[in-house]
Amino acid sequence: MKQLITIRDAKKRYPNGTDVIHALAGVDFDLHEGELVAVTGRSGSGKSTLLKVCAGIEVVDSGSVAVVGTELQGATPAALAATRRHHIGVVFQQLNLLPSLTALENVALPLELDGVAVKEANAAAQVALDRVDLGDRGDQFPDQLSGGQRQRVAIARGIVGSRNILLADEPTGALDQRSGEQILSLLRAQADAGAGVVMVTHDRALAGLADRVVELRDGLVSSVVSRPDVETELAELWG
Ligand code: ADP
Repeated sequence: MKQLITIRDAKKRYPNGTDVIHALAGVDFDLHEGELVAVTGRSGSGKSTLLKVCAGIEVVDSGSVAVVGTELQGATPAALAATRRHHIGVVFQQLNLLPSLTALENVALPLELDGVAVKEANAAAQVALDRVDLGDRGDQFPDQLSGGQRQRVAIARGIVGSRNILLADEPTGALDQRSGEQILSLLRAQADAGAGVVMVTHDRALAGLADRVVELRDGLVSSVVSRPDVETELAELWG
């Protein structure tokens, strides 16, 4: 399977008063087509930072980050933006749906920003909404939808068009169990359809459906468990 993200020895520091926090202290990370990778670890272990580095939102201090063959370190802002727009969808805890746009318009927006004509962007947005089972809700505004439905709209926006990397930070965090399971099966389906999906999660049940579970501790990878051992070894990881 094609390699989508390759991170080697990534280091990222943040100033903390007179001190420095090593949010990433030398992390290797890989994502391939068709994979669902769960990133777990305690609060403050570096999970969100890793996701932002994958998304090109944060730039590492040292090490290398390549997304679909483009080295993000030293890339021009225009090249970075193009890589992000063409390949990467993100679903962060703040969903960032625009309240004044309908669900369909929210999903179409990344394509329009990329210069796709409105009609074509809307058609692709409809396909993405169909994939998250909200095909009949395109004309509703975010505040007319439930929390789970808004989450699915954000995922549709993350997968619209031909983007093949989906990065999700605690995608089921605020949802009830049933909505959470629905979101997870959607992420699994994206991976099964060929996308690379990374999700940050504390939820053991969610991580159990991943192809690989990467655990971070103090900015370092403390364990990597791959299928078929994920389910059995999770018990040991989390006690
Ligand atoms: P996690 O997602 O596992 O909770 P984060 O990646 O958010 O961990 O954070 C890792 C460490 O880096 C934490 O100690 C956090 O306080 C610190 N950190 C993250 N982002 C920033 C920032 N923008 N400025 C300063 N410190 C930060």
